[in-house]
Amino acid sequence: MDYTLSIDEPVCPGTLYVVATPIGNLGDITARAVHILNNVDCIAAEDTRHSARLLAHLGIRTSLTALHEHNERERSSVIVQWLGEGRSVALISDAGTPLISDPGYPLVSAVVAAGLPVIAVPGATALVAALSVSGLPTDRFVFEGFLPPRSGPRRQRLQALARLDLTRVFYEAPHRLVASLADMVEILGGERRASVARELTKRHETLYYGSLGELHRQFAAPGAERRGEFVICVGGAGSPPGDRVEIETDALLAGLLAALPLRQAVDTAAHLSGLRRNALYQRALELSGAGGSE
Ligand code: SAM
Repeated sequence: MDYTLSIDEPVCPGTLYVVATPIGNLGDITARAVHILNNVDCIAAEDTRHSARLLAHLGIRTSLTALHEHNERERSSVIVQWLGEGRSVALISDAGTPLISDPGYPLVSAVVAAGLPVIAVPGATALVAALSVSGLPTDRFVFEGFLPPRSGPRRQRLQALARLDLTRVFYEAPHRLVASLADMVEILGGERRASVARELTKRHETLYYGSLGELHRQFAAPGAERRGEFVICVGGAGSPPGDRVEIETDALLAGLLAALPLRQAVDTAAHLSGLRRNALYQRALELSGAGGSE
């Protein structure tokens, strides 16, 4: 490995630096990031008030300009013009690596299209941190960012991923965690190995491991801790099952339907699987020949 120690590198005129900042623990800022942020002409930040606090903590007094999802297209052309005039600019987001479920793509693509230099100053990103401790295969993975907020489009997206034999990484908002896990159980199967990383690098950092079904039950339970920031990692179609052996939903329903009235079978299946009663009811109707076709 040929390492270069260049934390005092001269900042190049006319260059855009894409700088990662911490995802919680301020100790994760790199020495090189501090150097670049100190020495560029201007920092483009997603939320200038939020970033001003980070910069104050680091003793950085470089001027800030706002670049967020509502102004990034028009702001990008201004920044490209500044770069063309020889000014140096650093791009940061509220946390982690810019462009990773954060603003910056229009700017970087415009800078590349203009033939101007872009330099990465890498550091924290929740997706890699979560994947690296997920216990799931990391040789091939797909990063899905945030799933659609509404269940219908979310399930469609999950359906498109269902057969891929690679690890999936999702960001999720706390108020949608349980609903997303429920859809994952239904579409990907409750037996898939998975992990949930909560509040990575922060005081309340917690890692949860298990099958999707187990994790859904855990977070859906009354009193479960659902505050904070979350990354969900889910094993591929061919990943070995977790320790707990789970019965396929259809087999479970069919077995229960053979012994119990439909409503009772559905209630029992919902209790055992943690899946939503409505979906199980519909499937039970189909299996018993009383519902519409698939
Ligand atoms: N650019 C950031 C990155 O590089 O990870 C991601 C920004 S995105 C707007 C915010 C989402 O990232 C959160 O909702 C959560 O899913 C994930 N995230 C960010 N920080 C996290 C942390 N400390 N622990 C767990 N997840 C985190």
